[in-house]
Amino acid sequence: MTDADVPPADPLLERAMALALEQARRAAALDEVPVGAVILGPDGELLAADHNRTETDHDPTAHAERLALSAACAAAGATRLPAGSLLAVTLEPCAMCAGAIVLARPTWLLFGALDPKAGACGSLRDVVRDPRLNHRVALLPRRREVECGALLTDFFRARRPAAAREGPGPSPSYNARPVAPDPAGLAER
Ligand SMILES: [Zn+2]
Repeated sequence: MTDADVPPADPLLERAMALALEQARRAAALDEVPVGAVILGPDGELLAADHNRTETDHDPTAHAERLALSAACAAAGATRLPAGSLLAVTLEPCAMCAGAIVLARPTWLLFGALDPKAGACGSLRDVVRDPRLNHRVALLPRRREVECGALLTDFFRARRPAAAREGPGPSPSYNARPVAPDPAGLAER
């Protein structure tokens, strides 16, 4: 993974996503929307790992990958990640996090589930590969997508009123909120 043109090897990608999923499960245990993220350095070393903390911190910007990017840069004493770094996150990053990714400049981005309601890495827009920006992240093929999405849909389904649990499942998204039954199954923030 030292050569920024050669994608990280399969076992490293698998390890990264396993660690991100572990973080997502920690979030669920704290009643946080289960999204986890890790950053591995150019030699595969763990630079940061975190999970969504929006409820715990009362901070709408405390998304897993945003926190991990800040922690990795702070630990390195730098405003950018080393070339060859990989960010792995269980859910497609939102516009805020995609912006943070462009600023922190990981070379590689790997995510699990698509976020059709808020994703900014291909779903609603594609911030990380926008040719008008001065850094573009190499987006790797999604990995463990079903598992990453199931964590989210199970989380929201368990928080819906019993009467609403029969309908279509909630969409895997940070934007889904376990508040009230929604006929479309897509509660908005
Ligand atoms: Zn985000």
